[in-house]
Formats: sequence, C-alpha cells, structure tokens
Amino acid sequence: MSGRDGWNNPELGPFREEIEALLGGEAPLFWAAMDEPALSALRINSLRAGAGGAAQAFSAGKVPWEEMGRYVKAGLKPSAHPAHAAGAYYMQDASAMAPAAVLNARPGERVLDLCAAPGGKAGQSAQRLGGEGLLVANEPDRKRAKALASNLERLGVKNALVVSALPEKLSERWADFFDAVQVDAPCSGEGMFRRDPQAALQWTPGAPKGCALRQAQILHEAGRMTAPGGRLVYSTCTFNRTENEGVVLDFLKGHPEFEPMEFELNGVGRSSGGMLRLWPHKIQGEGHFVAALRKKGAPAPAPQAPGRKRRPNPDLERGVQALIREVLGRMPEWMEELELSLEGDRLMAAPRGLPPHDGLFVLMKGVCLARVKKGYIEPEHALAMALEMDQAARRAELSEEQALRALRGEALPWDGEKGWTLLCFMGMPLGWAKGADGLLKNHIPKGLRWN
Ligand code: SAM
Repeated sequence: MSGRDGWNNPELGPFREEIEALLGGEAPLFWAAMDEPALSALRINSLRAGAGGAAQAFSAGKVPWEEMGRYVKAGLKPSAHPAHAAGAYYMQDASAMAPAAVLNARPGERVLDLCAAPGGKAGQSAQRLGGEGLLVANEPDRKRAKALASNLERLGVKNALVVSALPEKLSERWADFFDAVQVDAPCSGEGMFRRDPQAALQWTPGAPKGCALRQAQILHEAGRMTAPGGRLVYSTCTFNRTENEGVVLDFLKGHPEFEPMEFELNGVGRSSGGMLRLWPHKIQGEGHFVAALRKKGAPAPAPQAPGRKRRPNPDLERGVQALIREVLGRMPEWMEELELSLEGDRLMAAPRGLPPHDGLFVLMKGVCLARVKKGYIEPEHALAMALEMDQAARRAELSEEQALRALRGEALPWDGEKGWTLLCFMGMPLGWAKGADGLLKNHIPKGLRWN
C-alpha cells in the first residue's frame, strides 16, 4: 500500500475541513507536504558508550529539537544493522522526539510515562535521567507492554519499572508521586497519515470526539499522580482541536491546580498557552501536538534514599558471589546502587525508592541479573544489555558478519577461555554465549533472534 492510498477514505471530508480551518491560506503547503515521502529518524542512545559512532554512518543531519536525534540517509535501514540489536539507537520519528524533549527529565527525578509502548519517549526520558532517579513506564495493552520492556532492555535502561495497568489503577496508589509525567495519548493519528496509510483508511468523523473522551480520563489520572510543582506533558500525533486544545483547555478548567507552562522548541518555535503543533510543511517530521502544564505548589523535599545495607540472606549472597565469579569478574558500580534480591530462582537488581506495586502486572523491575540454580548460574539477557563491554569477565568482539550470525542464533568458533562470554559489537553488548570445546554457544533468547 502506498502513502496515497489512505487518502481514498471517503470519510475524510471533516478532516480536510479541520485542516483548512486551522491553516487557512497556508493549507496548500500542508497538502503538498503530505505528498512528500516521510523522513526516517533515529535517536542515539546516550546510555551506550560508542553509540554515536555506530549511528554516524546513517546520519543525514541533526534533529533540531533533540540533541541525540538524527535524520536517516534515504535508502538506509539502521534497524537491520547489528548496532540496533546492541541498543546503539532507537528508530523514532523526529516529531515524536518533541514531547520528551519538552518534559526534559532531569537526573534524580521520578518520571512516569503513562501510555508508554513501544517506548520511544520512555527510552528518551531514561536517557535524560542518565541512570539517576526512576522511570516508571506503563502500557495497559499486555502485548505492547512486553515490547516496551524489551525495548528498554535493549537500550540498557537499569532504573525502570514497567507495568501494565489502566491509569486509574495506578493513580489510586501513586497520588502526587512523580516530578514529571508524560501522557502521549492514544489518538486518531492524523499526523501519521503520510507515514501510515492505514491510519488514514481507519479514520472516521467520530474518531476525534471518541478519542478526546478517553484522553480526558487519562489526563485526569495523570494529573493526580503529578507531584505539586511537577510537570505534566500531554501529546498526540493528531492535528484536530478536539483532541488537542479542546482536551487541554477542558482539563485546565476542571483542574485549577494546574497552569500552562510556556516552552520553546528549537527549530519549531514558542508555545502559546503551553501548546505547540508540529506541522509537516514547516519542519522535517510528521504531525504532532505538545502541551506542557505545571501543577501549582512547592515540590516536597526529596525523599530520603533508603540505605544500602542489605539484610543478610545467605542464598542471595551465594548467588551474587557465583555471578561475580563465573560471569562478571567484579561487581559493577551500578549494581551496588541497586537493591539486590532473590525472587524464586531469579537474582534481581531493582531501583531504590520504587512506588508500591504489589498486585500490579510488572514486566520489568530494574535488571533481572541471572537464574540461580543448585550449583549453577545462568546470566539473563537483561544483564548482558545492562553491561558495558569491560564489565564482563570474558568478552568476544564480533565483526559485522559474525554479529549477524550471532543474531541468527548460530554458534561461533572460539579459541578463548571457557565460560560465560559477552558477545559485543562495536563495543556494545549483543547477548551471552558460553565458550566450550572451540565454540561460543549462543544464548541470545530465541524471541530476539533475527531470521
Ligand atoms: N509513547 C509511546 C512511544 O513514544 O513509543 C507511544 C504511545 S501511543 C501514541 C499510545 C499508547 O497508549 C498505545 O500504546 C496504547 O495502547 C496506549 N493506551 C490505550 N489506552 C490507554 C489508556 N486508557 N491508558 C493509557 N494508555 C493507553
């Protein structure tokens, strides 16, 4: 299906009228831009040393509003390169990088992404946190939540809790908890019509109103979870006023504890009433809308970080020692910052200061380090992705051809030491292999292998 096929939807009349009303004499420029091909972009993962070098070959220039954003040279497919599997970058439309740039998570903050799958903005906020503070990413759709957790794992995010729940289940527990909240709401997707013809084919005149009702509910719950003095950023990838200004102004009317927060987005412009639209005929990217709000009041003093002392637990100690002996060589500093525990046979390293999450469906809680069995330890893929190259006891630096073979699940010839070995590409982790009998036996999980 080509981008133009979506425009055959006979129901698009009210969409066209809305665009004409919003743009007036500028509308012909918009329609012309919608006939142009959409540009791809990626975000370099600043959590990975060496990621910038790996992305360089694909870069056709910087995205003005996100320091780590790069447009991708026409005809190239960075997602098919092993550096993608190693978490060097995340494929993301340039405009979709705007909301998390506006939220601007700062190291040490508690950040919530309430509609987070597949994880573009959550990963972007994790990068801004730089491993300090906490990212809670929620996605009610379980299948999408799985993809979200897998994407954060690939990027090497260590300080995240990923859950799958409806927002009202979370706001019951987490009132006033977060310094920064992202609501990238499900919407009618008009801003994606150029990239995704299905979005245009599925659009109905009733979609904006239906979406606005759901957006208002989500935003209400997000407001409850924002701490006094905290920021709430609402975004959609649609143009119409019903889902954008309409939802935001209604929210402000019903929530006098919030006020608009003006912002400037480099290369786009200044917000008005805390709101800004990204138009494909004005910038290099698809359609998006961003609104920034602030909850009035003074921020509460930062919570006391819980102490680092572990309760004596001989099974846990044995597991940690086995992990160090057989897999790591020594404990990386980041692991000492996390709360180590044994859950069944799983050795876990969770961020400190998590909000209560009993009874929630949890997909990721920090880093799952290893499975501890009687006399045996098996490192988890998540641990591989959390490591830097020199944090494993043994590593194998692969060529591009070897990395592709490893990603297909093949064993590779090996004349190094026996034991758990970190497979690396361009200095970044791909997963585990076990060296024995002249071979590196592949332990990249089957679900993550390339066909
Ligand atoms: N923020 C994501 C990113 O940057 O990769 C994209 C989010 S997408 C626009 C909206 C998401 O909201 C979808 O994954 C959808 O399943 C989820 N969603 C649907 N209903 C929801 C609800 N009631 N509360 C929270 N999220 C919801």
